[in-house]
Amino acid sequence: MSYAQRVIEGLKQKYASEPVFLQAVEEVLMTLQPLLDKDAKYEKNKILERITEPERIISFRVEWVDDKGEIQVNRGYRVQYNSAIGPYKGGLRFHPSVNLGILKFLGFEQIFKNSLTGLAIGGGKGGSDFDPKGKSENEVMRFCQAFMTELHRHIGATIDVPAGDIGVGGREVGYMFGQFKRLTRSYEGVLTGKNLLFGGSLARTEATGYGAVYFAQNMLEDRGENLEGKVCAVSGAGNVATYCCEKLLQLGARPVTVSDSRGMIYDPEGIKVDVLKQVKEVERASLTRYAELVPTAKHTPVAEYPEGRNAVWSVPCFAAFPCATQNELNLADAKTLLANGCKCVAEGANMPSTLDAVHAFLEAGIAYGPAKAANAGGVATSQLEMQQNAGMQSWTFETVDGKLKDIMGNIYKNAAATAKEFGQPDNLVLGANIAGFRKVADAMIAQGVC
Ligand code: GLU
Repeated sequence: MSYAQRVIEGLKQKYASEPVFLQAVEEVLMTLQPLLDKDAKYEKNKILERITEPERIISFRVEWVDDKGEIQVNRGYRVQYNSAIGPYKGGLRFHPSVNLGILKFLGFEQIFKNSLTGLAIGGGKGGSDFDPKGKSENEVMRFCQAFMTELHRHIGATIDVPAGDIGVGGREVGYMFGQFKRLTRSYEGVLTGKNLLFGGSLARTEATGYGAVYFAQNMLEDRGENLEGKVCAVSGAGNVATYCCEKLLQLGARPVTVSDSRGMIYDPEGIKVDVLKQVKEVERASLTRYAELVPTAKHTPVAEYPEGRNAVWSVPCFAAFPCATQNELNLADAKTLLANGCKCVAEGANMPSTLDAVHAFLEAGIAYGPAKAANAGGVATSQLEMQQNAGMQSWTFETVDGKLKDIMGNIYKNAAATAKEFGQPDNLVLGANIAGFRKVADAMIAQGVC
């Protein structure tokens, strides 16, 4: 059994109740063997055993009072995974499905994603099983304040800098920033994704979706292709999906789908981003409302999905952008996409494709951009926000967007060159994993063991 396999087997025994974490670890470790074979120092320094264990896990009770005056209790977490190359950095997820296994998967991915950006940021993730759906503005505010009442003692601009993820956007970041400031009397860039009024960066909101499209452009350019005039399938309807659609439209492509937990929209003329923003950002409504506002669009409710699979992936497209959540695209979906002629997949969500779907894309030889490379634009722009806060500056939209474009180009070049170095030129999963891992692992070795 190889070194990577032995470590995976050990983790399967130890963390049997954390399947998504084990999936994320397997996806990374199984591609590292060529590097581990080439250089014995990683096994000698027990790097795989060390890098898969979070440096610190903070887990805490969050209690708050709802609008009826009743006490509510949630669980809060921050997984400070790896600080070898910079302060812990990564989002907060508020969703009823959140548990430690999910945050460990997200935190583990974040280590390599952040390393790939080329910027000085370590990996972390946090969140709560709090469900923002159906909560009033005041309830969301009280929850965010209660969450930060504990979290504030563990974070700081040079220690750990949280941001948004599913269920956490500008509104929630604002409430948490306010509470951090009240409790610490410190005005610092402790969170990213802030409002422009108090230290936020232009283009941060757009960055993850825009970045996924820039990554797709890089992959396609190398293959003599482009997105102009092409039909694209996008899943999700949050911040990532919205700005992915916006950038596709700007480039002359035609995104025809979006989806949420209730169903999917097929808009053959192309998704109307202003309507999507109105429905999701302003009204915080379901996509059924989009269909009300755009009569040419068709809404398919989840109950009518084929075999329970997201109907987005049955829409013939040139390029697919999974921007919803983990494991939203399985082997059957991958086969459908490929049979319908899909030539490019760029992942906006974290780990949206199951392991067998990833293998199907790699075997088919299409342009496949794994999440930790393709969606790194969000966290990269968060780091640009940290730079602006530290220097007490605010850069123009064009400056930040220009830097984002360069970073996405460099991530692609680094992953592609590393894939080539290890003899698998089209395998960006291997390229991204090895490139991201190597920098962190070498930093850990250089810093010694204690
Ligand atoms: N949640 C985003 C991600 O998955 C962004 C994290 C950040 O900006 O720190 O990378």
